Amino acid sequence: MRGKLITLEGIDGSGKSTVAERLQENPEIKAFGPVFTREPTRGTLTGNAVERAIQSDTDQLAELFLFTADHAEHLAKIVKPALENGKTVISDRYSDSRYAYQGITLKTRLEDPLEWIKNLHRGWTIIPDLTFLFDIRPEVSIERCGKRGEQSKFEKLEFLRGVREIFLRLAAEDPERFIIMDASRSPEHIEKEVARKILEFLSRN
Ligand code: ADP
Repeated sequence: MRGKLITLEGIDGSGKSTVAERLQENPEIKAFGPVFTREPTRGTLTGNAVERAIQSDTDQLAELFLFTADHAEHLAKIVKPALENGKTVISDRYSDSRYAYQGITLKTRLEDPLEWIKNLHRGWTIIPDLTFLFDIRPEVSIERCGKRGEQSKFEKLEFLRGVREIFLRLAAEDPERFIIMDASRSPEHIEKEVARKILEFLSRN
């Protein structure tokens, strides 16, 4: 039987990586041997290209294609083989991050960037079975990150407000797949709840 694909999504500093790390140490999660992964991928040609693009002044459309190339690489090398082996895959960021982030970066370039980017993925991506949206006010997440990923604070705040709005819209459109987590709580609390919901989901499906 094909494994399940679970994704963690949310704006920068919402605590996804912190929870992903904690889940890897959680004995009940470890017991079923999930594959932990992330986007951008680490140490690959495409993942490195994305990291460099993020750090530089790369054209936003070029950036979208780099991210999308990395998604293809991620699917081909990690996600698909693991799912075909019946493994559960837990990914820190996945396609919804593209819809939400590039939905904002491309808003002056394309008429309806969200639909356009979704269409670009159609037919070859694998839609997650379950997605946790780490929802938080950008004021709080920026405070947590300090100077990480710097732009002017105002731009960053406005930008992340837009990204958060798209994430919430995606969740509202697909309530069966999304679970919205209040990410302003402690990492312990969030991790316990995510673990419990993963275990419930896997026992039902
Ligand atoms: P993300 O992966 O969503 O960008 P991180 O997990 O890297 O976020 O967390 C960003 C920063 O916020 C880190 O310094 C981390 O220690 C801190 N942090 C993460 N989760 C919480 C939380 N629930 N409460 C307070 N601080 C947190």
